[in-house]
Amino acid sequence: MNQITYNYYPGGKTKALTMSFDDGRIFDRDLIKMFNKYGIKGTFHLISSRLGSDGYVKSEEIKELYAGHEISLHTHTHPTIAYMPKRQIDYEITENKRILERIAGREICGLSYPMGSFGDNVTGVMKNAGMLYGRTTISTGTFALPKSFYEWHPTIHYSRGTQRWSKNLVISRSLLTEKANEFAEYFDWQRNMPLMQVWGHSYELDDNDDWDVMESFCKYISTINTVWFATNIEVADYVNTLKQLRFTQECDMVYNPTAIDVWIGVNDKPVKIPGGERVELEG
Ligand SMILES: [Zn+2]
Repeated sequence: MNQITYNYYPGGKTKALTMSFDDGRIFDRDLIKMFNKYGIKGTFHLISSRLGSDGYVKSEEIKELYAGHEISLHTHTHPTIAYMPKRQIDYEITENKRILERIAGREICGLSYPMGSFGDNVTGVMKNAGMLYGRTTISTGTFALPKSFYEWHPTIHYSRGTQRWSKNLVISRSLLTEKANEFAEYFDWQRNMPLMQVWGHSYELDDNDDWDVMESFCKYISTINTVWFATNIEVADYVNTLKQLRFTQECDMVYNPTAIDVWIGVNDKPVKIPGGERVELEG
């Protein structure tokens, strides 16, 4: 019988990177320029009630600005959402969804939790609203895919990190660069599809004068050819598609009922299973 494993991303790549940025401030413009320069994709979580207000992106620019990246929810007014009645949680999500979808001209099924606030009550509302993931603000430092996409903990906040003293010199360490090195060298013995998810706010890059940190990270990571540069929803869709594959008892054939192409390991080699197709797997 064939040994089937789920350990590949599109194109047979073995790792994935997502960049998840909150609030929709005007510095998204510079961040997107940088991402575009290095072929990196971003996911941008926008607050609908603040569009066009001081320091925030304008409705009119959204469609063009975020083209090629993911527009995602961050609620309508940015409350501590887990501490509200369900009908208000519902309003915060569905109003955010309605407004942004109208502007973006497409469906939006992702969200990052405002104030990092999440819980079972929020998840229940999200599922009813057709949402597919919720990103938290809990940095795990790991490259594991989430157990549940509704509690999707990122790997690391982008920040420059701590400064340390060394022989009278202050050395600024970029934790992001260190984590990128770790990711590049990461050997995934569990074969469980490592993902690095970086989160933050574009205004922090400006406030802390950290654009160089981000640029050196983007430049470095863009050269690693085992990495799939994806948006959050693309990763969620891909992983959800793997779970929908239908195998014969002997695993000599598989059917992909979705419209998304996936790659699976067949006896340790990547094999493409195109969307909507039935593929014979050589034993
Ligand atoms: Zn926020």
